[in-house]
Amino acid sequence: MPAPSALSYSSYRTYLECPLRWKYLYVEHRPELPRGYFTFGRVIHSVLEEIVRPFVVPAPRRPGSGDGQKTLDDWSAGSLAATPPRALTTEELLAAYDRAWSGEGYSGPDEEGRYRALGRDLLVRFHDQFARHPVVPVAVEEHLEARWDGIPLHGYIDRIDRTPTGGLEIVDYKTSRELSAEDARDSDQLSIYQVLVESNYAEPVERLTLLHLRSLVPHRTAARTRTALDPLHTRLGAVADGIREQAFEPTPGRHCTRCDFRSICPEFRTVPPPEEARLAALVDRFESLRADERRLNSELARAAEELHHAAESLGLHRVPGTRAVAIRRREEAWQYSLDSVRPLLKAAGVSGRLGQESSDDVRRLLRDTEVPAEIRRKVAETGSRRVRWYWELDTGSGDPR
Ligand code: SF4
Repeated sequence: MPAPSALSYSSYRTYLECPLRWKYLYVEHRPELPRGYFTFGRVIHSVLEEIVRPFVVPAPRRPGSGDGQKTLDDWSAGSLAATPPRALTTEELLAAYDRAWSGEGYSGPDEEGRYRALGRDLLVRFHDQFARHPVVPVAVEEHLEARWDGIPLHGYIDRIDRTPTGGLEIVDYKTSRELSAEDARDSDQLSIYQVLVESNYAEPVERLTLLHLRSLVPHRTAARTRTALDPLHTRLGAVADGIREQAFEPTPGRHCTRCDFRSICPEFRTVPPPEEARLAALVDRFESLRADERRLNSELARAAEELHHAAESLGLHRVPGTRAVAIRRREEAWQYSLDSVRPLLKAAGVSGRLGQESSDDVRRLLRDTEVPAEIRRKVAETGSRRVRWYWELDTGSGDPR
């Protein structure tokens, strides 16, 4: 399969939740049912754009990253270029809202009416606050693309503002009921937007904000450090690899209740009636073999242990039977507690070098010369050695079992 096209935050999140759903959406382009709250979000975003866009003052871009945003004045062929931006009146705002409104996806007139009233209230209060506490927007609803160390990304940024200290603040509008400071602190969406903005703009991103539109409370956090972004890069890389390798297994869970593809998903498909009896017999046979397997495995473990104790006490490694020779083998492996390793790597600013976070990755890290020797020594001290004895059978066929 060719390299995946650019990942957006929602595509990344969809793949993490269920790769098969990702395939239905992004490979097969199957449509989803419209939902009122998505329609509502789209409408609100488009009216907010109308409120803010006249005030956009574009910021310098990195070379080759595009020209930046045009204000509405630029779009009117410069005829109003000398005119200071004019805020929408409340009447114009409500007219814009009426024009943008769509009733798609609501369960009925009651739900649509509730959302419509909520949107009206929320927009009027936003409009009022925007007039009383003006900001300097650098861009609104801007589509940005970037390659983050080989991973292609893209996204639409609701708003980028200039901060009082001359940097940039990324603002993402949220129409959800609840929102907290932790949401902003833990948001992969804001992290991806930071990467996109930093790749396209010359000035640094200083702040990341989720703006809760129902309360107009901004949940702000400082821009992430490179080290803090490393785990996200690893996760995005794993998603990009999964897509490239066509790993599209279904991952059922609570999210299935809002998935529109249950009727075609193998996790929810039922056996066709003509096949029911045949498949039921196969399942019964499989279940009974599994029970035999468990019984035999436990017998095997007991026999191996008895043999081990006898061989140990006699100092033997090879024990002949009548049909094969049993050969005793020793295997040694180091195990690491990732809960102990992670803080060490984090303190040293090298968290990103742990890969998929298995004991194998820790062993690899111990040979990684880019990790300071002192840190590797401390990581090595968290390990414990596990020794396992096991038996191979030499039947004389040259193929030990
Ligand atoms: S129903 Fe569940 S498992 Fe199946 S595609 Fe949808 S989310 Fe994935």
